[in-house]
Amino acid sequence: MKTVGEPSASPGEKALSVQRSSPDLGAHRPRRTRETLFPAGTGEVRDAVLAARAGKTPLYPLSTGRNWGMGSRSPVVDDCAVLDLGRMNAVRTLDLDAGYAVIEPGVTQRQLAALLEGTPWMLNVTAGCADAGVIGNTLERGDGTIRARTDDLLGLEVVLGTGEVVTTGGLDRHGRRAGRIAGPDLTGVFQQANLGVVTAAAIGLVPRPETIALVHATFARDALEEGVDALIRIGRARVAEHGMLRLKELFVVPERGAAAVPPGADPDTVTIQVPLLGSPAAVRDAERGIRAVFQDAGTPVSVRVLDTATTTADDPLYARARFARGIPTCDALRAGLRVRTCEEADEAAVGWLMFLPTVPLRRESLSTAVDLMRAESQRHGTASMLEFNVISQHSTNMVVQCPFVREPDAVERAHALRAAARDAFRRAGFPVYRSNIDQQDSELAVRAEDYRDGPLGALKDLFDPDGIIAPGRYLVVAR
Ligand SMILES: Cc1cc2nc3c(=O)[nH]c(=O)nc-3n(C[C@H](O)[C@H](O)[C@H](O)COP(=O)(O)OP(=O)(O)OC[C@H]3O[C@@H](n4cnc5c(N)ncnc54)[C@H](O)[C@@H]3O)c2cc1C
Repeated sequence: MKTVGEPSASPGEKALSVQRSSPDLGAHRPRRTRETLFPAGTGEVRDAVLAARAGKTPLYPLSTGRNWGMGSRSPVVDDCAVLDLGRMNAVRTLDLDAGYAVIEPGVTQRQLAALLEGTPWMLNVTAGCADAGVIGNTLERGDGTIRARTDDLLGLEVVLGTGEVVTTGGLDRHGRRAGRIAGPDLTGVFQQANLGVVTAAAIGLVPRPETIALVHATFARDALEEGVDALIRIGRARVAEHGMLRLKELFVVPERGAAAVPPGADPDTVTIQVPLLGSPAAVRDAERGIRAVFQDAGTPVSVRVLDTATTTADDPLYARARFARGIPTCDALRAGLRVRTCEEADEAAVGWLMFLPTVPLRRESLSTAVDLMRAESQRHGTASMLEFNVISQHSTNMVVQCPFVREPDAVERAHALRAAARDAFRRAGFPVYRSNIDQQDSELAVRAEDYRDGPLGALKDLFDPDGIIAPGRYLVVAR
């Protein structure tokens, strides 16, 4: 196994390290880390886990380490060795009859999407980096263009904190999956958890339809209420062929935060976006239905419906058209962060924090969430970009992106905003669905107060009795 940095001390002895974790787009508190390990396969991951157990030294697994806005490559607690799984980049199975791939953590969106070109299947890509993996984002409950990444996850191979290797979700020990087998399925307990290191995942692919259109409707910020009503009606009526419905590009720009806002951001408008997938007739029908909703809502909208197959590279919506076709691209992301390559992201002049609460798909809740965020953004002099991803007919994943210039005062304000927003949203009944490294502790405490899921700790004792996997990440802080 390749190792970089201070080697661990002998088993049983705690290695001392003075390394600071890598630069981080979110400017979280820097962590002290030990060496970085680069295993080449499940066997080497198992060796690393067993050595960590013997030495009682924690491991922090990464797939591609682009957890931007939530900690990048940094562990939650100090003194972890980083287990970088980027070298494990094999596509173990690609079943183009059944429509799934079994991939390792280092497999990137770009890599898998390229393999699917010209096949009847496509990947549900995110608007994040093309060279980000699929597994890290899926384990974090990220959102793709077509659906929530959780909906892609069919099964896992995991090295538990005990060193035992298990598979879930009907993924067999030979890397095949006929379907979900009888009995309980543990797949979900390894999402947003620290019970083991995921070494492979079965990912469901999206059938490539004949037509993919992208509805892009813009309406005045003053007509937000009507826009929200339209969103709810479309969201409740959505059918399987529709991609992820989003209300997006709702900007709150206080004067002190303006410098970090991406060029072209328009605080006076809001966008509703949804990809439509299917036969030409089905897509036309869906488009008609959506236009009718806008008309009923009386929202003064400009509606564009793009045929994503013919959208040209000079169209401002080109990147979105590509995402809808399962093709990842970094152009928009780099423009927002003002970097030339994604390798520069963690040291970009503009920093970026994410705040990710869950908000019900109902008028009052969505309005309250917007009002709360507006108030906190103004109070903390930090801009925020709001988006609601309609992940079901009942709830939305709200995505709040807070760009900030990297000056001490602006960094402090952005972090104060993230903390204050968390408290305000919790009081309003909207807890976070995805956390960052600085706030895991308090978010775990909130969880313990508000939810009756104490026995989850018993799973930690069973699967990782020495507490060596990603301490503090989503489940049980104490080691
Ligand atoms: C401008 C911008 C746009 C973005 N767009 C999106 C978007 O559209 N959708 C979205 O969801 N996110 C988005 N992000 C957030 C983020 O960049 C992505 O979620 C990214 O994919 C996460 O990085 P990664 O895939 O490299 O995961 P990693 O950083 O490798 O991992 C993420 C987390 O999962 C854990 N983990 C990773 N691999 C394993 C494993 N094998 N076993 C156990 N635990 C593991 C890690 O400990 C870490 O905490 C965006 C960020 C920015 C700045």
